[in-house]
Amino acid sequence: MAMAEVGATAAGGSNRQALSDDDADGRALFLSWAEARGFSVSTDAVGNLFVRREGTDPDAAPVVLGSHLDTQPTGGRFDGVYGVLGGFEVLETIDDHGVSTTAPVEVAVWTNEEGSRFPLSMMGSAVWAGAVDLDVARALVDVDGITVGADLDRLGWAGDLPLGRTLTGYLELHIEQGPVLEASGSEIGVVTGVQGFRWLTVTITGDPVHAGPTPMDARHDPARPLAEVLDGLYRITAERGPWARATPAQFRSEPVSPNTVPSTIRFSVDIRHPDADVLDGMDRAFRDLLATSADRHGCQWEISVDNDSPPVVFDPGCVEAVEASAAATGRAHERIVSGAGHDACYVAGLVPAAMVFVPCRDGLSHNESESIQPAQAEVGAEVLLHAALALAHTSEDR
Ligand SMILES: [Zn+2]
Repeated sequence: MAMAEVGATAAGGSNRQALSDDDADGRALFLSWAEARGFSVSTDAVGNLFVRREGTDPDAAPVVLGSHLDTQPTGGRFDGVYGVLGGFEVLETIDDHGVSTTAPVEVAVWTNEEGSRFPLSMMGSAVWAGAVDLDVARALVDVDGITVGADLDRLGWAGDLPLGRTLTGYLELHIEQGPVLEASGSEIGVVTGVQGFRWLTVTITGDPVHAGPTPMDARHDPARPLAEVLDGLYRITAERGPWARATPAQFRSEPVSPNTVPSTIRFSVDIRHPDADVLDGMDRAFRDLLATSADRHGCQWEISVDNDSPPVVFDPGCVEAVEASAAATGRAHERIVSGAGHDACYVAGLVPAAMVFVPCRDGLSHNESESIQPAQAEVGAEVLLHAALALAHTSEDR
């Protein structure tokens, strides 16, 4: 609640856009808590911040718990913040109890997760994992012409901690941002991966003719394949179970006239699935359907891929650590796939990673009314704690 007062909005949310003064104030508050505990603090070249509690083995790679403190312009109090402060709660708790871990335990604050001010979401973790070049990130510009690089330098956030360090594991605690856990009554979502998605732009081309004199069977009307492929898209999706998603949108026709058969109809299709093969299968089935249908109605078609984000499958060992922790603490839990992207997606490309979800009210997120109960927050942090201890090994394990 104290963090939410930094960049507080009138409707009860937070506005701490990446690398803004509000974001810097939020970090300063967080650092004041970290330094009061005597934890060490360092940053890497893209401003990712790491708060560290040492382990007993100087050679052991750290277990990192983290998320982000930046928010959407009309963001909530929990998206990202909960994962950072939940991780910090774990650090404080093991410290309070004098627990020695073999591996160091760190809390990460990734830079610019939201991508609202600088248009690249999960920027800090992407650079950390080598998926995006540091120079590309530094050159990103906001609407006022300020670059990421200029703000990193202004705030003194660019440090010398190496990017892409070896980690024993990475765990990210987050609100679900969807309705599944609330509906099923689960207290914990054991996140096994993140859905892949693909954005297609579909163009169907026919012949523009007069809507009155031209008989129906003498037309090459792109709306006819459109009707068939939309119906087919929903069928293709339903056949692939509840994790398959398809969203046709952005319908545009030309010419813009009510009494001319369109020459072209263009629309977007967003398809999603956690399994790359199933996602490819959906794409192929849709293309086959479009080809057959367009051909039947004497139309041409074209598909361009505008965005292709492959599914992420989390490390089985980390997933099991989360699941075992939820079971050991007696929490109702289920395995779940994330519908949204998170820093853990990029981190998982380099080191073992997984996520812990807690339900949030009405599944609402990216909204000032985002809400969780204190008891729910505690359950998530407790599950994170025991999963982190399992990865970092306590001296009692030996
Ligand atoms: Zn987030």
